[in-house]
Amino acid sequence: MCLYNSMTSLSTTLDGFQLKSQPTNLPDARKEPFGEDPGFARLDGEAFPEFRPGSVWLVGAGPGAPGLMTLLAFHALQSCDVVVYDALVNSDILRWVRKGADLEYAGKRGGKPSPRQPDISFRLIELARQGRRVLRLKGGDPFIFGRGGEEAGQIAEAGIPFRIVPGISAGIGGLAYSGIPATHRDTNHAVTFLTGHDASGHMPANVDWGAIATATPVIVMYMAIKHLAAIAAELVKGGRDPRQCVTIVSHATLPHQMVSETTLEDVADFLVSHEPPTPAIVIVGNVSNWRRILDWYSASLRENRIG
Ligand code: SAH
Repeated sequence: MCLYNSMTSLSTTLDGFQLKSQPTNLPDARKEPFGEDPGFARLDGEAFPEFRPGSVWLVGAGPGAPGLMTLLAFHALQSCDVVVYDALVNSDILRWVRKGADLEYAGKRGGKPSPRQPDISFRLIELARQGRRVLRLKGGDPFIFGRGGEEAGQIAEAGIPFRIVPGISAGIGGLAYSGIPATHRDTNHAVTFLTGHDASGHMPANVDWGAIATATPVIVMYMAIKHLAAIAAELVKGGRDPRQCVTIVSHATLPHQMVSETTLEDVADFLVSHEPPTPAIVIVGNVSNWRRILDWYSASLRENRIG
């Protein structure tokens, strides 16, 4: 049976949802630009924006699985002169960097502190002024808790042309790979992303934990493991149900992804007894119950290297 027909008949059964027009033109449309060869090479040329010498692209590498990168990110890896990458970028992705391009690491090394943010921005500006095509590769999405805004700000102030290539954030990809829809009409119409860590490494003082506790049905937290016990206590103090589910997704989207489940009232003990690995995303909310039926990332699927 034709795939399009079966998809269309399925969608028409969903809550009166109707496709406005049948997607019968899709196979022909595909033939037009790509012919018989839909490979990346055929996507190149005029289809992609030019990566100009002397410019910086801030590119999201996605949450981990290489296949979750965008085509624009792939194009950037294939056309750059130098890649400045972070610790959370999967090294498998770096195999796709154009031969001859340089790789520079901008994360923590051997227990030494990470380079200071102004130093990284300065380096990006310096490389661009040498006339190179500079790819700043960051985990997830560059504008979500990745200091991409700070780097872009300094690059803009220096008058260097730049482009932002969004990526799948860990708080989106990690939920998808653990069978948790970020929103679901039966459980939540809102979702809040927050960080459990401020620039000085403390629990962020300018988050109104009392308001967060009651205002948002689902909280997705980045960099939250260190202060999670204190955060959970604040949420309960602010009126959140102590029995509410806390889900921790470690190494999201990678074959060694690990999902742990506890509750707000038990999380402090759980952290001590289980020490969930990092990096990890923490989800607070009943939306996690969808895992019971939507947990699709099974052992056999984890054998794929790309996604
Ligand atoms: N810009 C990134 C976030 C950088 S902050 C993004 O959009 O995803 C770093 C935090 O992201 C980590 O402390 C962790 O909370 C989360 N994170 C990044 N990669 C992750 C992964 N593969 N699994 C779980 N959490 C991850």
